[in-house]
Amino acid sequence: MAKKYTLNIAHLYGDLMNTYGDLGNILVLKYYGKKMGIDVQSNVVSLDEDFKAADYDIAVFGGGQDFEQTIVSKDIQTKKDEIKKFIDSNGCLLAICGGFQLLGKYYIDAKGDKIPGIGVMDHYTEQQHDNRFIGDILIKNEETGEQYHGFENHQGVTYTGSDERPLGDVEQGYGNNGKDKAEGAIYKNVYCTYFHGPILARNNIIAKHILIKALKRRYPNDDFSQFEKMKVEKAY
Ligand code: GLN
Repeated sequence: MAKKYTLNIAHLYGDLMNTYGDLGNILVLKYYGKKMGIDVQSNVVSLDEDFKAADYDIAVFGGGQDFEQTIVSKDIQTKKDEIKKFIDSNGCLLAICGGFQLLGKYYIDAKGDKIPGIGVMDHYTEQQHDNRFIGDILIKNEETGEQYHGFENHQGVTYTGSDERPLGDVEQGYGNNGKDKAEGAIYKNVYCTYFHGPILARNNIIAKHILIKALKRRYPNDDFSQFEKMKVEKAY
């Protein structure tokens, strides 16, 4: 009988940070998990709740509006050490838009207020004046050659740190800041992006990458090459 694999997802602030259906990312991880025969469980970890790094294989942190981000910014400081531990131990984390901003040093909101991030990554996010980057976006990941499609809607402009590489180079749209052609950030097994859509529903290949990385980390002695060969659907 085939071995039964289990993966646990922490949906960080899933009740507050879920812009444009970012929850769909978890549904896609469960959908492909089922195809691979993996039992993928998830639970929301929100205000005043403990996040324990050791309990999880994947964390998903969605986008949010400035009001929710201000609330989350205060609470997430209490989870900083465990989130850092999770990232340092190669946990897989998918952070979208407002979630991406709060993993970095700070975010200047539309009113000009500085919202502290947790600084577990080196990027920072400045303000645009009376402008938002809104629209469809297409990027290309330099390492894999994969193209990713999404929809961006953000006020903040993000500048990545020296140990972060972009999720992709912008081919159409704005990306992190509209200037340096970078979109998102990859650091260890953390994927950050401004893509809603949700990103994994439109770019199933990223869901596959995340599930395989999480499986290899949780079950280091097992061979997952059959999952690597698995075809994913394109849904732009
Ligand atoms: N409030 C942030 C901004 O406008 C994040 C937006 C989002 O998560 N969609 O930049």
